[in-house]
Amino acid sequence: MTIKTGVVIIGAGPCGLFQVFELGLLGIRAHVVDSLRQIGGQCAALYPEKPIYDIPALPVVGAQELIDRLAEQIEPFAATFHLGEEVVELDAHDDGGLRLTTDKGSRFEAGAVVVAAGLGAFVPRPLRVAGAERYAGKNLNYKVTDKGRFAGKRVVILGGGDSALDWALELHDIAASVTLVHRRAEFRAAPASVARMRELAERDPGRMRYLIGRIAGLAHEADALSGVTVASFDDPDVVETLELDELLVFYGLSPSLGPIAQWGLDVDKRQIRVNTETFETNVAGVFAIGDINTYPGKKKLILSGFHEAALAAFAIQRHLDPEVKQRLQYTTTSPLMHKRLGVSGSLGTD
Ligand code: FAD
Repeated sequence: MTIKTGVVIIGAGPCGLFQVFELGLLGIRAHVVDSLRQIGGQCAALYPEKPIYDIPALPVVGAQELIDRLAEQIEPFAATFHLGEEVVELDAHDDGGLRLTTDKGSRFEAGAVVVAAGLGAFVPRPLRVAGAERYAGKNLNYKVTDKGRFAGKRVVILGGGDSALDWALELHDIAASVTLVHRRAEFRAAPASVARMRELAERDPGRMRYLIGRIAGLAHEADALSGVTVASFDDPDVVETLELDELLVFYGLSPSLGPIAQWGLDVDKRQIRVNTETFETNVAGVFAIGDINTYPGKKKLILSGFHEAALAAFAIQRHLDPEVKQRLQYTTTSPLMHKRLGVSGSLGTD
């Protein structure tokens, strides 16, 4: 089924979220697609706990808090979110329509598209050991899509963050054994998960183990991995080979421009060139805001993306309806803005 809509925003980072707001003020609803399962882009995925000091009127705000506030601010505009889906195709058709397809098979037909894709889609950091890529999609996994696949298996998990620990604990219940390998004794994961894993390793060492070390090599049989070799950091001559049926790698996420490079957009050093009056790209109806765009003087700051979203919204409105009469209205005083925001326009003071 194809979803027909006015605007699709690619990317739910701070700039994509604010684009929902600016379009909403003009009475335009949007669908938002993000490859991550959560909104917030870099703020939520890379530095949720860090403070940001350069958002106007917020002397200090945590990165996740900024995203939570943006989510609250855009609530009145009821955008539809499609999370955990990467937009893989974008085609401009002769009728002026834009067709998008995601890796999960969702299809959209839109009058305008805003690429707010930041540094690109976040994809799992690969295991960088010679030959590893041959087993991806076989028994080298970067995510768990079907937990049952690990039942009764010897599972080795690489990583020390929340995903690695969460899956080590979850699979412990069904796997024959789980061995967690991390490169240092300190884990980034939630302390409660680390404590639980350590407790299981002590109580049930045959089914839960953890090792500190570096992956030095892979062993294989026929088409599948059969083991990983772990070298000790203290003494690289000390190696242990772990036999396995399934390997799970959770080394975090890194952004990749990926399919965006194939969409016929004018890309310069992994960024999309735009017209700074409209934030439109070289493809009619396709706009780009936030970290993904470039123009003379561009600064990759959240506040730059907010400004870009405001101007892009007006340009999108005109693109969708060339006859529209555009009038700048203040949210403070405009009854129409109040209606769209679902507010009374009074702070309720006496
Ligand atoms: P992003 O936040 O990168 O979001 C883009 C989203 O698009 C991602 O969620 C991605 O998954 C998604 N996406 C990409 N391609 C696709 C696709 N094909 N399909 C579906 N989804 C896709 N800026 C400041 O202004 N002040 C600061 O103090 C500050 N501190 C920072 C500290 C750190 C450690 C870092 C890493 C950055 C900091 N920044 C700061 C920069 C700021 O985070 C970015 O400018 C901002 O996140 C850009 O927002 P965005 O919405 O353009 O893109």
